[in-house]
Amino acid sequence: MSSLFLRTLRDAPADEDIDSAKLLIRAGYIRKEAPGVFAWLPLGLRVLNKIEDIVREEMTSIGAQEVHLPALLPREPYETTHRWEEYGDNIFKLKDRHQVDYLLAPTHEEMFTLLAKDLYSSYKDLPVTLYQIQTKYRDEARPRAGLIRGREFIMKDAYSFTCDKAGLEECYRQERAAYERIYQRLGVKYVIVHAFSGPMGGSESEEFLAPLPIGEDTFAQSPAGRAWNVEALKTPVLADVDFSATPVPFEVTTPGAGSIDDVVAMLNEQVPRSDRAWQAADILKNIALTAHYPDGHTKLIVVGLPGDREVDLKRVEACLSPLEMSQATDEELAQHPELVKGFIGPMSLGSQAKGTGVASPVEYYLDTHVVKGSAWVSGANAVDRHTLNLVYGRDFVADGVIEASQLKPGDMSPDGSGPLSFQRGVEIGQVFQLGRKYTDAFGFTVLDEEGRAVPVWMGSYGIGVSRVLACVVEFHHDGNGIMWPVTVAPAQVHVVMAGKSDVIVDGAEEFVSQLLDQGVEVLFDDRRKVRPGVKFNDAELLGMPIIAVVGRDFERNGTIELRLRDGGDSQVVLAREAAAKAKEMIDHLCRQYDAG
Ligand code: ATP
Ligand code: MG
Repeated sequence: MSSLFLRTLRDAPADEDIDSAKLLIRAGYIRKEAPGVFAWLPLGLRVLNKIEDIVREEMTSIGAQEVHLPALLPREPYETTHRWEEYGDNIFKLKDRHQVDYLLAPTHEEMFTLLAKDLYSSYKDLPVTLYQIQTKYRDEARPRAGLIRGREFIMKDAYSFTCDKAGLEECYRQERAAYERIYQRLGVKYVIVHAFSGPMGGSESEEFLAPLPIGEDTFAQSPAGRAWNVEALKTPVLADVDFSATPVPFEVTTPGAGSIDDVVAMLNEQVPRSDRAWQAADILKNIALTAHYPDGHTKLIVVGLPGDREVDLKRVEACLSPLEMSQATDEELAQHPELVKGFIGPMSLGSQAKGTGVASPVEYYLDTHVVKGSAWVSGANAVDRHTLNLVYGRDFVADGVIEASQLKPGDMSPDGSGPLSFQRGVEIGQVFQLGRKYTDAFGFTVLDEEGRAVPVWMGSYGIGVSRVLACVVEFHHDGNGIMWPVTVAPAQVHVVMAGKSDVIVDGAEEFVSQLLDQGVEVLFDDRRKVRPGVKFNDAELLGMPIIAVVGRDFERNGTIELRLRDGGDSQVVLAREAAAKAKEMIDHLCRQYDAG
């Protein structure tokens, strides 16, 4: 450490919001160069390389072959698949000196399809799986959480090509199994959830989510153990309701009612129900959203959902992909005077509006919890007025039924096994059965045994290598610093030379060379001008799995203290036995991360 390029910081950087970012920067593993852009310093690079090596080993074990494509790519292939547009502002686009368009790749489906198509033409060539570990670029709207949402980040992306669907399913199964081994070896907990395919397209897809409260994804689990990203969860279809006994609609005045609760209170006062009190769930609330097309133009839509539920923009986006959603501003709403803010009613909305009054060209979508035949109280399209007995299917219709509302505890799971429970997670990997989306776009076929051209089936499989490194820290740290799993630690043993007498210096050097002889990786704090207290703090912060102290006890009794960073009693052993003991401890630690 006397010559290592490393400066640890006493305080956490003020602008980082999560523990892993604070610790990795404080401990001198990474450095922030710009929002979402990081430099790797010597110790950080060692961890990154170890993670990459584990990923490589597991990719090799399933026969995937490593290549390395450029990050700077031409526009045309992304035009062919429409992703130049669909990725929207998330792509870093640039021009060369001839004003020709390029992009910094956010992912590589197009280029791998072209690569395989160029070289392969026969069924005999397939199956093949190629992968790379490479820097990706995405101009994320909100770079945050350090390495977890970077704008430049490292991804392992693999692509399988097969002659048929069965082959694709087999490749998918192998990748998925390799992912399970990778995360086990990295010491990262994960839940496999059904996923929404997003701009990737394709059908079957699962995500590996690290269950962490800092995650931006929410996943739902059923009592039977199935899990879904809430973006991908389809709520069970509810049966239609018989509305033959529901009287015709009528209006009431609700002066000054500014919230759903106000409306409910006024209803209970003015038009009390005989069976029970009015509730928020009886109100159909209509929310104006601005839908953003990939090319930048926008349109207003209205979404109707029960008053006791909140709109979930991500779930709306998943249903109306590739449109992106935001709450409509007052100015946007003002362009549709027929929609009265706070009192939007469903009767005149949508392309097939039934109601009287001014028809609105605005598209109207209903949440799945609004069942055909059910009766609602909703805005009357007039200030301070609401309408009762509005029956969906009789008095109003919609342009579509979508998953528009936030799910909540108690909602039933699609597998019928009972109520859902919810947790936050960080997406550390995703596997896709893309099917023929990309191969068809580029006309990638191969000749089968009879010489006929058959389409090629494709899968794509990503791991966020730099993101998963941050997740390792999220799972393995305490108030004093990082606690690396032995499989990825920059070194296995951190030897602290706690004192500067010749006896201690010689003893520490001797111990280090014994460790090296045993093949142990050592970080040696040989700094002479640094106090032991500072060294101990650094050892805790840096987080090697075993901390060994050669200090006063060595001087007095010839002993070395060995301690596991993540807890457990320290052991005091004779110097000549210490290296073997350390090796034994390392082997024991390694077994905890064995993936079998
Ligand atoms: P997210 O939903 O978090 O934006 P994504 O679904 O867009 O991620 P993919 O296209 O599936 O990401 O990319 C494969 C993997 O790359 C992800 O599972 C994730 O681990 C990682 N990844 C994606 N975006 C980033 C990022 N901005 N910074 C770091 N890692 C990322
Ligand atoms: Mg993903």
